Amino acid sequence: MPNAPHTAPTFSIVVPLYNEEEVVAQFHGRLATVMGALGEPWEVVYVNDGSRDRSLAILEELRERNGNVAVVNLSRNFGKEIAMTAGLDHARGAAVVVTDVDLQDPPEVIPELVAGWREGFDVVYAQRRVREGETAVKRATASLFYRLMQNIGGRVQIPRNTGDFRLMSRRAVDALLKLREQHRFMKGLFAWVGFPSKAVLYDRAPRAAGTTKWNYWKLWNLALEGITSFTVMPLKIATYLGLAVAVFAILFGGQIVVRTLLFGNPVPGYPSVMAVVLFLGGVQLMTLGVIGEYLGRVFNEVKARPLYLVERYLPTAPAAAERDALLETAPTR
Ligand code: UDP
Ligand code: MG
Repeated sequence: MPNAPHTAPTFSIVVPLYNEEEVVAQFHGRLATVMGALGEPWEVVYVNDGSRDRSLAILEELRERNGNVAVVNLSRNFGKEIAMTAGLDHARGAAVVVTDVDLQDPPEVIPELVAGWREGFDVVYAQRRVREGETAVKRATASLFYRLMQNIGGRVQIPRNTGDFRLMSRRAVDALLKLREQHRFMKGLFAWVGFPSKAVLYDRAPRAAGTTKWNYWKLWNLALEGITSFTVMPLKIATYLGLAVAVFAILFGGQIVVRTLLFGNPVPGYPSVMAVVLFLGGVQLMTLGVIGEYLGRVFNEVKARPLYLVERYLPTAPAAAERDALLETAPTR
């Protein structure tokens, strides 16, 4: 484990990033101003998620100049969800804030999150007041997704218009880190953990620089991830669909028997048979696909691979100094 608890700062900021050379320095500047004003020890854990640009070099430079910067360099790109988990694994603070690096989550909101934590809430999440810089389509699909999740999520209620930007107390982080599933639908995992939670409204800004790594295909997959990680409803739908079709077939069959007895058999058309066969074939393939979705996920979990691999972990400079001191004072045999 990275560090002894007695050296822990009050706040840890966890920041996953992937190809963000344009914004890192700007982000750190704004973060440092905000955190400095809070007047308590803090650290920032940057997780470089296999960036192909100069992000890592910039981070190393930042760390050299600032005593409270830690860098976790993953062995390749693992995706934001896992990068975030890696950051949480290495965060030591009594309260941990997760934020994006692109300044869409303004660091200026952090003091409000901290205020909520001081009031005694374990989770203080930032909820978007408006979704600026996003297209109407993205807003509509996001809204549809939340509505769907609200209906099928059952006991686990996922707050609307809430991303990953949030503060968590140490015990909430520790609870979250117990969930080591490969398919990490973080919005769901955050909600699953529970604990007293509070929302803080904020205005989500458009990206400061660089481009989003999201596209609709990825968002669709994220939605699938959310549904399949938190409910087996699609499997039940398959059951009821099958039942409904079977009941219909029995009634339809009965009607044919009655009509044949009463009116003789006029040989009903080939097109209707074709339509029924194709329809049922389609439904069957689709339900197989649904089962496959779940089976694939079971397969991935069963392999029990580590969530990520760290290429390099550069702790905060004071931590490094302490470690060296420990090494010096260690009894030699
Ligand atoms: N990110 C990451 N790994 C990835 C993709 C993104 O660590 O594979 C980071 C990215 O650098 C940013 C955050 O996740 O800090 C959010 O990404 P982005 O802004 O592209 O997503 P959006 O805000 O559009 O949802
Ligand atoms: Mg963004």
